[in-house]
Amino acid sequence: MRLSPPELTHGRGRATTRARLTGDGVDHELVFEVPDEWSIHPGSDPFVPTAVYVATAAGAESLTIDRPVSEPLLTGARTAGERYADHLGRPPLEIVGEARPSPRARPAGRRTALFVSRGIDSTCNLILDDRGELEPSPDLALVVTGIDTANEDVVDAELCGQHIAAAGRFGLDAILTRTNVRSLFDSYTPWVIGIGPALAGVGLTLSADLSDVIISSAVADARRFTGAHPDIDPLWGNGLVRFHHLPRDLSRSERVRIVVEDGRGLDFLQVCWDEGPTNCGRCKKCLQTAALIHAYGGDASARFEVPVPSTEDLRRTPPGPTLRDDFIDATAAAGVPSFAQAVAEHRDAPLGGVSPEAVHAIDPDAGRPAELLWSFIAAADDPPIAAATVDHAATTGPGCVVGSSGSSTTHVRTSAMRAAAVTLWHRRADGADAALVVEALSNGSRPVVVTDAATARALRWRLPELLQGLLATVDELPTVLSDAAIDGPRLAGAVRGGGLGWLDELEDTDR
Ligand SMILES: [Zn+2]
Repeated sequence: MRLSPPELTHGRGRATTRARLTGDGVDHELVFEVPDEWSIHPGSDPFVPTAVYVATAAGAESLTIDRPVSEPLLTGARTAGERYADHLGRPPLEIVGEARPSPRARPAGRRTALFVSRGIDSTCNLILDDRGELEPSPDLALVVTGIDTANEDVVDAELCGQHIAAAGRFGLDAILTRTNVRSLFDSYTPWVIGIGPALAGVGLTLSADLSDVIISSAVADARRFTGAHPDIDPLWGNGLVRFHHLPRDLSRSERVRIVVEDGRGLDFLQVCWDEGPTNCGRCKKCLQTAALIHAYGGDASARFEVPVPSTEDLRRTPPGPTLRDDFIDATAAAGVPSFAQAVAEHRDAPLGGVSPEAVHAIDPDAGRPAELLWSFIAAADDPPIAAATVDHAATTGPGCVVGSSGSSTTHVRTSAMRAAAVTLWHRRADGADAALVVEALSNGSRPVVVTDAATARALRWRLPELLQGLLATVDELPTVLSDAAIDGPRLAGAVRGGGLGWLDELEDTDR
């Protein structure tokens, strides 16, 4: 993979730097934009974090950076690359580039910035700073458009204006920056990890004017490999700007408690995954946040369409594994045992007659936390598929994964497919099967669409022979999965030959 030299442009009061990332299946122009009165970094530094992560995730052997990179950043990038490779199970990435010596003296009078997005984590940091408990103490809020929402300009402009207003209530002036890196991650790699490199890129773009940048941490447990990470964020410093991952010791529930006790954030919090103007109150993120606010005696009604979740909602859409145990402990301790119990029941329930321990055992890399795979399977919530997966893994060894129809698991899906020999899902009624087939094949995983007997019969009658291995009823799964003649390369060849037209006609076949 190659990172081309950046190009700078100025116009409409904005300074923009662009660089192209190409090779290993990726061809994407990366953009960072800041107000023109700020100094924009003229070199490749802003693009390095994203390029290193994407190149590693894509399995590239090397990343060539065409322009010299500041020496500390190049060193940090090599360490970060090793950590990504280790986490993602990829080969180590060779970073080919020339080091530019760091400046001997850092210019004086530069500022300390905090990313503000009105979520729990940055709001908690605004409060901690107000109490004198954040070190270094920020004097500037960085607001980024193109990160929380995937570049939806209209909604985003309004959201960012509200971010700036929220920072102002804590005495910070703010600057509005923009990037398009999320569109890259949404296309090629999991965004869930991409957010750290994206934020670092914004900080590096402004590194002539910033001495320190604070990235708000999201979980207390550093073993959880989340987007912003305490062992990676500080590696992106370039000798001008330093990155801090703060705070390092507060759980999600403790952060919510701090926000509730302070009270000022309750009328501007924005945590929803649905990207609306307020919080829907129904998605996973809204449910867990509103439940914790309620548990700590706060009133979520100003920002959440459903201010107090029902235990039934929580049971149906519980917090993910990263936050689940914290949620159970916190709500129990805060005196809302019904919330704790609803989530604990879900955690402990066998899935499709399969115990959580058995599903953990499918993890392709023993000894590593099985979180991604487990959350993926739990989200699928499809007992026949869960059972078939466990059976299959028991006979063929690890490396099988369950497909899911949950939209919020899209980012998990790509990385899970890459780890899996087989990707299974129940036939989707919304026409997504073709996209999933292609996605699985392009990630080196064999796709299998599980469907009922009548549909399977009708489709087999119409399908080219090579593609029949895409289909199975639940009863046929063991046979279909063990058919060694049906392999990924053969299927990929058949699909490339135009064999997917049948998927468009699937709806008619059903009726
Ligand atoms: Zn929501």
